[in-house]
Amino acid sequence: MSSHVSPSEGVSADHGQEILPRPAVGLLPKYTAGKPPRVLEGLTSYKLSSNEVALGPLPQVREAVAGFDGFNRYPDPLVTQLRERIAQAFGVPAEDVVTGAGSLGALIQIIGAFAGQNPDGSQDEVLYAWRSFEAYPICVGLAGARSVQIPLLPDGRHDLDAMAAAITDSTKVILLCTPNNPTGPVLRTQETHDFLAKVPSNVLVVIDEAYVEFVRDPDAVKGLEFLERYPNVVVLRTFSKAHGLAGLRVGYSVSHPEVTQYLRLSATPFAVSQVAERAAIASLDHLPEVLERVDGVVAERERVVAALEAQGWEIPQAQGNFVWLPLGEETARFAELAGTHGLSVRAFAPEGVRVSIGEPEANTRFIELCEEFRRA
Ligand SMILES: *Cc1c(COP(=O)(O)O)cnc(C)c1O
Repeated sequence: MSSHVSPSEGVSADHGQEILPRPAVGLLPKYTAGKPPRVLEGLTSYKLSSNEVALGPLPQVREAVAGFDGFNRYPDPLVTQLRERIAQAFGVPAEDVVTGAGSLGALIQIIGAFAGQNPDGSQDEVLYAWRSFEAYPICVGLAGARSVQIPLLPDGRHDLDAMAAAITDSTKVILLCTPNNPTGPVLRTQETHDFLAKVPSNVLVVIDEAYVEFVRDPDAVKGLEFLERYPNVVVLRTFSKAHGLAGLRVGYSVSHPEVTQYLRLSATPFAVSQVAERAAIASLDHLPEVLERVDGVVAERERVVAALEAQGWEIPQAQGNFVWLPLGEETARFAELAGTHGLSVRAFAPEGVRVSIGEPEANTRFIELCEEFRRA
């Protein structure tokens, strides 16, 4: 990891001018990846800090990539086969799909195409709820645009009224995260229609559905339906979460042709490897099995939520493969205690802790830990 350089520290008398990044880069927050768990004698440790699925890819997916050895060739720059498979699976035109190295790669392509710094020095604004996905401020800052963060409501939901009120002439992109990482609630259909009615048609609205497969709330926004109705909506999806392919880096956006044409220009060439494409196709070929595994994760999530509520915890709606404990100032203490129990969790001090749903044994230990923490 490179150290954090602030532009003002850059000039040293002894060595002349240092090589410095653009000022925007010096201001970027550092991405803190979920840490692996501590190794403890006689106790299995679990990583519950990155919202990965515990089971890994399906056996059929492993098989699909096992024999591949064409690594001397560049992948198909248009990722045609995967885009066609996505189109078939979700009933969208293949031309509207743009892939990326994870949905994060796809998001960087979107922001890079639509928001940044203008020749007169002014910055476009990208509006999103906060706290939300940790990578958002990095993607926005790197593009040269300015983040406008609207605090979540106390129950972890987007404050859509405040977000609508924060739209200015400089707003170019709005990010909606549903379910919201790290707090868990979904956007509801009607509130999102009401919100979109207030968004100018030249402002892009990205609906980040990284956890869509885990959603069970019937009132939750369905991004693809919104895409049908609003030309300025972009839906963001990934193979990292439900499909268990986080390590292969493949995600995509779906948008209208007027938007897609610019995403093709900003897309990183060859961002999706042949192995990633094959694995993603195989996973879609076995979507029922993927969703069956997701059902198992959802059942575990419901078990965890019910147990925590029985202990007296008040937690936001959990619709992803994680739960949020709004611990405030006690965030660090909880994370520390979790570490001593062989569980790595994600602490966002001073707001709370996000804990991924993992193996049943890990979830049970997490439930016991919550009980112990409340009594302490
Ligand atoms: C995990 C996650 C992603 C997906 O990242 P990938 O780059 O696809 O691995 C996107 N958005 C949110 C909100 C996430 O939590």
